[in-house]
Amino acid sequence: MNSEKKIVVLGAAESGVGTAILAQKQGFDVFVSDFGKISDKFKKELTDRNIPYEEGCHTQEIIFSASEVVKSPGIPDKVEIVSGIKELDIPVISEIEFASRFTNAKMICITGTNGKTTTTLLTYHILQKAGLNVGLAGNVGKSFARQVAEENFDYYVLELSSFQLDGCYNFKADVAILTNITPDHLDRYDYNLQNYIDSKFRIIQNQGPSDAFIYCADDILTMQEVIKSEFKMQCFPFSINQKNGMNAYIENNNLIIQTHNQTLNMSIQELALQGKHNLYNSMASGIASRILEIRKEVVRESFSDFENIEHRLEFVNSVHGIDFINDSKATNVNSTWYALESLQSPIIWIAGGVDKGNDYSMLTDLVQNRVKVLICLGTENKKLIKAFKEIVPVIIETASADEAVQAAYRLGKKGDTVLLSPCCASFDLFENYEDRGRQFKAAVRSL
Ligand code: ADP
Repeated sequence: MNSEKKIVVLGAAESGVGTAILAQKQGFDVFVSDFGKISDKFKKELTDRNIPYEEGCHTQEIIFSASEVVKSPGIPDKVEIVSGIKELDIPVISEIEFASRFTNAKMICITGTNGKTTTTLLTYHILQKAGLNVGLAGNVGKSFARQVAEENFDYYVLELSSFQLDGCYNFKADVAILTNITPDHLDRYDYNLQNYIDSKFRIIQNQGPSDAFIYCADDILTMQEVIKSEFKMQCFPFSINQKNGMNAYIENNNLIIQTHNQTLNMSIQELALQGKHNLYNSMASGIASRILEIRKEVVRESFSDFENIEHRLEFVNSVHGIDFINDSKATNVNSTWYALESLQSPIIWIAGGVDKGNDYSMLTDLVQNRVKVLICLGTENKKLIKAFKEIVPVIIETASADEAVQAAYRLGKKGDTVLLSPCCASFDLFENYEDRGRQFKAAVRSL
């Protein structure tokens, strides 16, 4: 009987509240605890459903009496309450693990350091266009658990962060996509890259011969793991640099997707998502769609009419011949590399914020060749300045999106591109990357 089992949910935002709703529906005794303040919207939802909760504290007597704890991905394992729960051997799982127990839908799951959201939304777009009864969840949109409680989808496209994967044990992806792995979030992984890699590879745990693993064969860290492993599932590698053995590749400016002896061919000029990084994302989504037997025409049509997402190399405006691009979502060095690489014009680059242990050396060549001005936008810019002072002729510091945009406009010439691609998190000057991107766009629009 579920009612004999007590589920404690830690964290009361979209993921936690969704979990509580599902747990209640499944007849569990549920309690929600958030150490911070719970937003009014979520408090109302809990109250309306008579789900007990607390905020501003974690009451140990209640939490330690749980049969299972579902922890929101934002809460690190190191916090005291989680260590306490683990010491008592109470299982701590993620929303994804919990909710997957209550659905038989086919799971298409996407992880990776960069490109998760783009690949997720593109895959979802294709599946929807194909007329499948499909839900979108994970890091994007409504919580997975909430949808399992309230909807009845046959397929889910799930964007999974490493933090969500860390709390997955029996969960299985029918189709798993790993876009790439570069160092990120190492503060949550004891500064050990292998821990982070292992976390990403949880996307394929429990997969068997009828499941699919789609990965980038150009990605060094992914391939180091692939070579070491003996996989039971079917593997679908993709590459821009090679063709042999690949299920997706580029040939004569065409994107080729080859699965189960069938070939889909499309000119890369027709892809709505431009840039090298997006070729990878399109390949991954395309393979997944073909594995699900979606018709070639539907895949091609979806590739060409997909609308780009806010804050990812988003064109904002052209003012007196100077283009402004918002790539605020680029919060690590690798994603900024792709942004710089995708532009051919001289660049006025706006970067900076909270440095998560960045190594800027991989940007040296691109910055030297393309960046004429670096505008630092952060409270602490020493590291950024040190990395680029020898190779960028002009470096200035600013403390707001407005100031940065004004300076870029003043220093720009017709034909230049102003690129906000910060390499860093945003929490020093902004609420989050969306806030940073919106303030940047507002400043551009008021020029
Ligand atoms: P995520 O959800 O993993 O953070 P997004 O799809 O939101 O990734 O893209 C974030 C940023 O990462 C984009 O602005 C772009 O600059 C970069 N990016 C997107 N796809 C890739 C990729 N496949 N490889 C490297 N960088 C990428």
